[in-house]
Amino acid sequence: MRPIQMVDTKNQYLKIKNEIDTAIEQVISSAAYIGGKAVQDFTTALNTYNGSKHTITCANGTDALQIAMMALNLQPGDEVITPSFTYIATTEVVALLKLKPVFVEVDAKTFCIDANAIRKAITPKTKAIVPVHLYGQAAPMEAIMQIAEEYNLFVIEDNAQAIGCTYTYSNGTKKKTGSIGHIGCTSFYPSKNLGAFGDGGAIFTDDDALAEKIKMIANHGQSKRYYHDVVGCNSRLDGIQAAILNEKLKHLDAYNAARQTAAAFYNKAFANHSKITTPFVAHYSTHVYHQYTLQLQNVNRDGLNAYLAEKKIPSMIYYPVPGHKQKMFENFGLNNYNLETTDWLTERVISLPIHTELDTEQLTYITTEILNYINNI
Ligand SMILES: *Cc1c(COP(=O)(O)O)cnc(C)c1O
Repeated sequence: MRPIQMVDTKNQYLKIKNEIDTAIEQVISSAAYIGGKAVQDFTTALNTYNGSKHTITCANGTDALQIAMMALNLQPGDEVITPSFTYIATTEVVALLKLKPVFVEVDAKTFCIDANAIRKAITPKTKAIVPVHLYGQAAPMEAIMQIAEEYNLFVIEDNAQAIGCTYTYSNGTKKKTGSIGHIGCTSFYPSKNLGAFGDGGAIFTDDDALAEKIKMIANHGQSKRYYHDVVGCNSRLDGIQAAILNEKLKHLDAYNAARQTAAAFYNKAFANHSKITTPFVAHYSTHVYHQYTLQLQNVNRDGLNAYLAEKKIPSMIYYPVPGHKQKMFENFGLNNYNLETTDWLTERVISLPIHTELDTEQLTYITTEILNYINNI
């Protein structure tokens, strides 16, 4: 059996090695390391794929979120509602920009932000909502956009884990996640569903004025070379990463389908087990399984993790400490938070290896060993 990894980017690369190597060589021989044709081509292809009017590439997903928030003219102390149960990047940029992160609950089944919890957290200072399409499934965007409209709030989607995911509105309309809010952000970190061989990110919007502003902010606030209108930053995708991503984008739907096949294998193996809850997929969303995350009941999670490690099966806890318990946010009144669902999930989730290269032999071995441990304690 091939060794099992949480994510296997190497074997994924080997399958399209010629295309990727050629694309990289073209960038090197054209010397367009920053900007240039590869970045333009990828931006155009991604724009078509994700269905927004504008796509702006940048250096990474965290920058994408930061630039999106900088484009909204928010003032220090303005409140931004986000889930506590997410990767730190979502909430860190809020605090970095001197805004106030307001942590709310997620839905215990989908792991995504709870629309009712958003409603309850709104104050006169609330300016934006940042839903996260956690693990590869859409947050309840229709309800979120409704709330945003009602209260005149901006919505920035954190689509770092869900590129390729499709959201279905109650009237049947379908949209890609990242193209629903006022701004969508994504990451091309190597382990993401569309991963570069380094860092990368992108920002989506349908709004012409916001697109201009975002472009400007990502490029030192420059409207014209050496004329800087606003304080911005330096955030760009390099040519080599763009060339790699452009090749991989052609395979993204197949990559996500391979993740779904692996997830279906896991689902079947763990179906109806009293101690294991498999991922729930909401009717309004597809699931692109950036993570395959179980909820355990009456299982010693550390024991399972150690047992699997002994069997050379990696597993991870995403995320062991939610935002409302992070020291970096200690000035934001964390003691006032009582997020029971988030705390409950934090203690019970475990993520299994999920990627495009898992084979039946590996999946059989992983599920057999997990059941061995759980059924024999
Ligand atoms: C990966 C990730 C980010 C940040 O992306 P980087 O490219 O690593 O900066 C933001 N939010 C979520 C939910 C992520 O998973």
